[in-house]
Amino acid sequence: MTDTALSLRHDIADKRLVRSFAYIGGKWCAAADGATVTVTDPATGAFLGEVASLSGEESARVVTAAQSAFPAWAARLPQERAALLRRWFELMVENREDLARIMTLEQGKPLSEARGEIDYAAAFIEFYAEEAKRPNIEGVTSHLPDAEVEVWREPVGVAALITPWNFPAAMLTRKAAAALAAGCTVLAHPSSETPFSALALAELAERAGLPAGVFNVVTGRPATIVEPWCADTRVRALSFTGSTEVGRLLYRQSAETVKRLVMELGGHAPVIIFADADLDRAVAETMKAKFATSGQDCLGANRIYVERPVYEAFCTRFAQAAKALTLGPGMDDPDIGPLMNEAAVAKQEAHVADALAHGARLLCGGARDPMGPLFYRPTVLADVSDGALILAEETFGPVAPLLPFDSEDEVIARANATEYGLVAYVHSLDPRRIYRLSRALQFGMVAVNRTKVTGAPIPFGGMKQSGIGREGARLGMEAFTEVKYICRDWA
Ligand code: NAD
Repeated sequence: MTDTALSLRHDIADKRLVRSFAYIGGKWCAAADGATVTVTDPATGAFLGEVASLSGEESARVVTAAQSAFPAWAARLPQERAALLRRWFELMVENREDLARIMTLEQGKPLSEARGEIDYAAAFIEFYAEEAKRPNIEGVTSHLPDAEVEVWREPVGVAALITPWNFPAAMLTRKAAAALAAGCTVLAHPSSETPFSALALAELAERAGLPAGVFNVVTGRPATIVEPWCADTRVRALSFTGSTEVGRLLYRQSAETVKRLVMELGGHAPVIIFADADLDRAVAETMKAKFATSGQDCLGANRIYVERPVYEAFCTRFAQAAKALTLGPGMDDPDIGPLMNEAAVAKQEAHVADALAHGARLLCGGARDPMGPLFYRPTVLADVSDGALILAEETFGPVAPLLPFDSEDEVIARANATEYGLVAYVHSLDPRRIYRLSRALQFGMVAVNRTKVTGAPIPFGGMKQSGIGREGARLGMEAFTEVKYICRDWA
């Protein structure tokens, strides 16, 4: 294996952004045995390139690199850490188009969505460059005579970050910028389906001047790479974004070493549309909530409840809008790209077949598209019954189930009847109703009359089994810091 990824390089202006080796201790490293993981273009199935597949022993050694870099990084002035993060942010902005194209090639998402993700990803680095400078000492009014009381926040140490394929840049920067700003050093493991985006960010981190060992990107098979980190006491925090199933596994594996955890897990978002909503807006916003990222989004609408008086009208308009969506390779910038892999498409098929068997009406789609094996047509199902699989499992694709409801209490109970609690969408123009729903919904985020709610300054995360902790905002640094309480007498 050479440090090239030829097929991928063809579409990229700055060829040095396409890296195939892992980035460890400031060096680009192949696996000692030359093992690689192959990356393919989901639109065509074509070979894109291969990246190093490190062994468990090699992955374990990366902890030493991050641990050695930790004391000096933690001791830097916050302003110095901030300046390096700021430079990294600027390099992302300068290389936006190449980063977006790398993402679209390996992930499949439409190019304009990839550009949007690069902006979103860069915003976390900019935000945490600023947060790095905010005070990490809090004075407390003393409760003891003559004593001075302070609370400090100190970096926890080495942080392991494990990221999924659906947002290969933003999920990494959201974690890494917070950890680095806090003074931690980072071990990052990107999904083996989309490693090139993370490696391009490592190349830019190096150009920005991040010291060797501070930000490491380790590619390979997930269990092989991550298990040694879970077992290592020197890894003090673990932040994971992915399915609830893998989250549970990592939770168990981290128990032995009592790590600080952040878990951004699955979602099963309800959309609730009341008859008093602006229906045009509700249709347009719910289209975004369902079909952005080709439906492969933890915030994706997974159940669309519509109040009975407007149900048929909504079904008709929503199906019309879904039929008008364009499907194609991400590089052609359609509305919907290919899904990530065969398992993702098989899941759409299983959910649709099961819903139809439970009496649902197919309003559009319902099949793969001849364009390629990973293209699934935007699909709308009406009258999905509460027993259907799609209402229990995360669909993670372009299939929209519509259900009528009759009362506010009923729809709140149905929306909350899940172990997921990431985001809920509400459409209504009645402020009292909006307040009641905002209170009653057991979700970490509630979006009212809109879809886009994410961004660097807000606390992103879920209730119940959708996760632990929050990312973004000042809160996003919490798991990467320890609280130390000092009580001081001078006498
Ligand atoms: P996944 O859980 O299969 O994989 C996510 C990451 O975990 C990948 O990097 C993968 O390499 C790694 N992984 C897989 N098996 C592992 C193992 N045995 N040990 C260690 N690491 C392992 O999820 P996915 O299918 O890649 O991503 C989709 C899921 O992610 C969905 O459930 C979605 O809701 C969730 N997600 C959540 C958020 C959020 O912020 N809440 C954001 C994006 C995606």
